[in-house]
Amino acid sequence: MIRNMHLSIHTPCALILILCAFIGCSQPIASQSEFVLGTVCTITLYDKGKPQVYRDIFDRLREIDNRMSVTIHGSDIDRINKAAGIEAVKVHDDLFMVIEQAVHYARLSEGAFDPTVGPLVSLWGIGEENPWENPRENPRENPQVPSQDEIDNVLALINWQDVELDPVNRTVFLMKPGMALDLGGIAKGYAADEAAAIIKRARIPRAIVDLGGNILLVGEKRDKSLWNVGLQNPLDNRGAYLGIVRVAEKSVVTSGVYERYFVAQDGVLYHHIFSPSNGYPANNGLLSVTVISSISMDADALSTAVFVLGYERGRALIESLDDAEAVFVFDDMGVRKTFGVNFALTDDDYLLMPD
Ligand code: AMP
Ligand code: MG
Repeated sequence: MIRNMHLSIHTPCALILILCAFIGCSQPIASQSEFVLGTVCTITLYDKGKPQVYRDIFDRLREIDNRMSVTIHGSDIDRINKAAGIEAVKVHDDLFMVIEQAVHYARLSEGAFDPTVGPLVSLWGIGEENPWENPRENPRENPQVPSQDEIDNVLALINWQDVELDPVNRTVFLMKPGMALDLGGIAKGYAADEAAAIIKRARIPRAIVDLGGNILLVGEKRDKSLWNVGLQNPLDNRGAYLGIVRVAEKSVVTSGVYERYFVAQDGVLYHHIFSPSNGYPANNGLLSVTVISSISMDADALSTAVFVLGYERGRALIESLDDAEAVFVFDDMGVRKTFGVNFALTDDDYLLMPD
């Protein structure tokens, strides 16, 4: 585990800061933020942002939340989980597609990404509180590390191959009682893609979709220059960035230890991204992984997958894909990136290693 990390998190706002002020963005109507999908979502529509478009976007985000959240009673996911080991559950097209994609990334990452981590997420209970209502340095009062027996019992339930999907009837069946899906590693990416689709249908020429640090840039800047996205310094306050990624119309998604975590009494930091092979938070020297891809759902699933896989296997996975690049931040303050990333380090506490 990560020991004695001095994290101080003051606000639950975006993990990634968009630096717009000095790069020639045209005037937005205004940004709008709401707490949805378990995080603060901020939409910024430029030039032709209309109140109705903001409303349509947030309505859609809430609809996705109501279908895909494990914590919303009666959501489709909740219904699937309650029927585990009993019966298949019919779900909406969008949720079916997201679960198909989650299973696809589970296969691709050889189980490092696994949407059946639900029981492990519940057992550890990391970051269940709503940080918007209750911002605190340490989100849990009495955090407990589960016993090895508890972890072993739950690990027996975690296997993406036990998810049975019937595309004809659009049903989902979890084969063992006690299994539970958790789409926390992919749903925000899908939601960002859906927001972008609404923005494009409304012919808004450029926009920033920021779903708790899941960034999706829509369109080009007026002066045709690249968008600048600040990468959160995992060891500093929210909004403090360690470097800048320059991208065209892409999604930039970070998975990091600092998003949800608790510090146990012995000073060890336990975060929210679990290794399905041992049931503990992934512990491989990475503080964060940022993935850049055109589709936000892909970037989201991949950043979680690569975080669990670790640098060597994670980088190999990214390099095997056409439309994916990554930046890796390590706990020894090293930073590495794949060849295609346009990245400038701005914090000299970190050291950028050669590609
Ligand atoms: P992200 O911030 O996108 O990396 O997603 C982290 C969230 O995904 C966690 O809060 C859990 O809800 C869920 N999760 C944790 N570990 C895994 C895993 N190995 N595979 C898939 N989802 C996970
Ligand atoms: Mg993710």
